[in-house]
Amino acid sequence: MYLRMAKRLLLESDKRALWKLAWNMGWKGMLSVQKHKKRLKKGEVFPPFLYISVINSCNLRCQGCWVDVAAKQETISAEALHRLINEAKEAGNVFFGIVGGEPFMHPELLDVLEEHPDCYFQIFTNGQFITDEKAKRLRKMGNVTPLISVEGNEIVSDERRGRADVYNKTMEGIQNCLNNKLFTGVCTSLCKTNIDDLLKEEWIDRLIEMGVMYTWFHVYRPMGPDASPELCLTTGQQLKARQFVVDMRVKKPIVIVDAYHDGKGQALCPAVTGMSHHINPWGDIEPCPVIQFSQESIHNHEKSLKDQFVESEFLKDFREMSASTTRGCIILERPDLLQKLIEKHGAVDSTVRKTAMKELEAMEIRTSQYNPGNEIPEKNLLYRIAKKYWYNDFGVYRDYDHSQTAAPELVQLQTTVSSTKT
Ligand code: SF4
Repeated sequence: MYLRMAKRLLLESDKRALWKLAWNMGWKGMLSVQKHKKRLKKGEVFPPFLYISVINSCNLRCQGCWVDVAAKQETISAEALHRLINEAKEAGNVFFGIVGGEPFMHPELLDVLEEHPDCYFQIFTNGQFITDEKAKRLRKMGNVTPLISVEGNEIVSDERRGRADVYNKTMEGIQNCLNNKLFTGVCTSLCKTNIDDLLKEEWIDRLIEMGVMYTWFHVYRPMGPDASPELCLTTGQQLKARQFVVDMRVKKPIVIVDAYHDGKGQALCPAVTGMSHHINPWGDIEPCPVIQFSQESIHNHEKSLKDQFVESEFLKDFREMSASTTRGCIILERPDLLQKLIEKHGAVDSTVRKTAMKELEAMEIRTSQYNPGNEIPEKNLLYRIAKKYWYNDFGVYRDYDHSQTAAPELVQLQTTVSSTKT
């Protein structure tokens, strides 16, 4: 499998783009994580991977979307984006996740990213604004990878994304990227309506055939004003998804990304390990995209960006409270504790709709990536090595015993799986 993957990278990709990926994202990305680990030892947390929502607007209306997509358009200006990227670079950062809304609706986005050839940007997009001309420009830039979301077959895509002909328009965007040899990824938010279509070998084979270089299976989170909790995966389906990813990594010449497990298959939260935090279109600094509460802003110039993160009592307490409670997703497993933390710090609802607390209060307790006793370790040696050094919990869970902190409902849900497995 390793040789087939190497062959794909060498024969199917643009060589300059491959070099940028290897150098900016690979080598310098690794160095930025090393710097993070050093800071952690000093009790300082500045995330090496920042996720930046550059705009709230979007042309789609997805179930479970937490962004105020219909609100008055707000963008992070080119000037503020440059300042943010430059300040993060001072801390050794090179990789940035660009999210939204729909990032390609931001009028100056590519102008900004083009001025940072020493960085690497992953744009989370529905692909519908990626014309052949835009893909040609991205190829010329070489420092951008589009990660395009496909949420199901044609019928499910329209249902999930609240518009018509979504699947075909997205596929057109993907094809424009592949025709221009971009290092292209396809992601899916796995849920009840698409797991049977997309969590299967045939779909992976299709992606490889098309020329897609990596894929990412997120797990659906019931967020926002249209949370659609009925779409959430069962605990058994979450484990099936993890097993599938581990199995396909030793079988298929395609990279499969995940953010929720270390090499031993132990669960983690990238916001708790300090690997990533989120900045919304209004410049508010949040623990992660779906926890829409904040106390800091990139527009506060009395402090450096780094100090805003390092000195944030809210972020620090969020990480410690979550780490002491679970290795999983605190907003799924203990929304009650998150609510208490937000009230304790007086953190501000950073949405336009100002209903984030009501949505949190309405959340049911659900299982997440943490399912003690059901850990599935990596089989692929390269993933094991990469995670051993550059993607694990960095010891943040070391001092905590989670056997007593899970909510009874959660233990019940987790146990159902264990009993079916034995
Ligand atoms: S809190 Fe949950 S949704 Fe947010 S980063 Fe952690 S695991 Fe992901």
